[in-house]
Parts: sequence; C-alpha cells; structure tokens
Amino acid sequence: MPELPDVQVFKEYLDATSLHQRIEHVRLGDPRRMLEGMSAKTVRSRLEARALESTRRHGKHLFAEIGGDAGWLVLHFGMTGGVQYYEGNEGEPDFTRLRLDFHNGRHLAFTDTRKLGSIAFAESVEEYVDAKGLGIDALDPALDKDAFRELMTGRAGSVKGALMNQSVIAGIGNEYSDEILFQMGLHPKAKLADLREPRIDELWRTMRRVLRTAIRARVDTARLPRSYVLPHRHGDGKCPKCGRRLERVSAVGRSAYYCPRHQKKR
Ligand SMILES: [Zn+2]
Repeated sequence: MPELPDVQVFKEYLDATSLHQRIEHVRLGDPRRMLEGMSAKTVRSRLEARALESTRRHGKHLFAEIGGDAGWLVLHFGMTGGVQYYEGNEGEPDFTRLRLDFHNGRHLAFTDTRKLGSIAFAESVEEYVDAKGLGIDALDPALDKDAFRELMTGRAGSVKGALMNQSVIAGIGNEYSDEILFQMGLHPKAKLADLREPRIDELWRTMRRVLRTAIRARVDTARLPRSYVLPHRHGDGKCPKCGRRLERVSAVGRSAYYCPRHQKKR
C-alpha cells in the first residue's frame, strides 16, 4: 500500500517522465467512486490541451501542477495505486483508471486495481491539504524535534495510532509505522503517554531515518538494510535481529507485525 516513500518515488518518476508534454487526450477507465466530486467531462476539460508542469507531494498525496493556471491534479493511491509512463498504443497496464495521451505518442497511466484511490483537482496544494484536514508532512523540514514533541505531547492512545493519524502527521501508514516501531523496540500497542521525552526525540529521528532510507532504496525491500523488518512482514516472516517468528496483532484497525522478544510495550 503506497505510503510516503512510495509516493515520493512516484513523484520523482513523474518528474523524470511526464512533465512539459502537451496532453492531447484524457481517457478514463471505469473510475467509479474515484473521481472526487466531479464528472469525467470536467477531468478532460481541465487537462486536455495543457501540460503537467511540476509536482509536489504531501503525505500520501501526489499533486501535479497543470499549465495555464488550471490548478493541480491530485492523486491518492489507496491500497493498490501506481503510475506508469509508456510509449505506443500497446502496453497499457491493467486497471488503468486515468490515462493521459501526450502529443509525442507517450502515455501516463494511473492504475488502481481496487479503486480505493482517488482523482481530484485543487486550486492549490495548501487549499487541498487544509480542506482534507491533513497534518504536516512527515518529512517537512518544519517538523523538527520540537514541533514533533509538541504534536505528540498530551496525546492519548498508541504510538502507532499517532504515527498513522493523517491529521497529525501525513504520510505514514501500517507498514512504515511497523518498521518505525520495530526500530524503536516498541510493541504495536505501546502507549504514547508511556514514552519519556528522550524516547519521543528518538521516535522523531527514527521516523525520518526510516522514511529517508526507504526512499533511497527506491522502496525496493531487497535494498533495505538487513536490520529492517519490512521485507519480513508476511505469514511466516522472522525477526531479522533474532530469528524468532514475527507475531501479528490487530492495532489501529490493521494487522501489525512485531517481534515478541524485543518489542516492548514501554
Ligand atoms: Zn527479534
């Protein structure tokens, strides 16, 4: 499921492939429920005869600026979303929900098997972030140690819940919160109120290190450090530190993986 590092990789992919090319046609493939409050006709009229000029990312949302002051295309990847740039008429990926046909015969496809993602437009990134009530991006330079400590102070509930709450910090989901907790030696149900200040600072450092490391690895689990649990989050996965079988527990409405030997509740 695309989280901050995945969406950052999508952003860099769009930057490298899809900017400054005139969009001749827009095709929508069964996008039911994915168009946020607008018709297919609106999507076409906003994009056709224009180009994508730049991109930004906030949390798990990708924004592409449309030329001619036509605002921003907003993509959210849900559980199964992705993007693919390709040439020619063959090779359209399965489950393409939105396809931009560029004047040079190339295409950008937004794919989503399960259709839990969304396609929207915004006048500005800030306006959209505000309207959605999204918190600060997890890698925003303004989210320094002090700002993080302030966000976490006095908050009830689990550490995992706070990390995954998009209205507090945007970008982290089930998988990366598991990795951050694993690196911290914290149980998925560890309570935020039980962390002393130095541990909150450590949580901030760990969060940023894990996200940056995943981006540097191009979210390829095979390229992550050997001490990371992400590649082992599956049925019979084992702890990369001690070899013990990982356990699964329901936390924040999702399945969390953890090592029962060295991930503690406090
Ligand atoms: Zn272990």
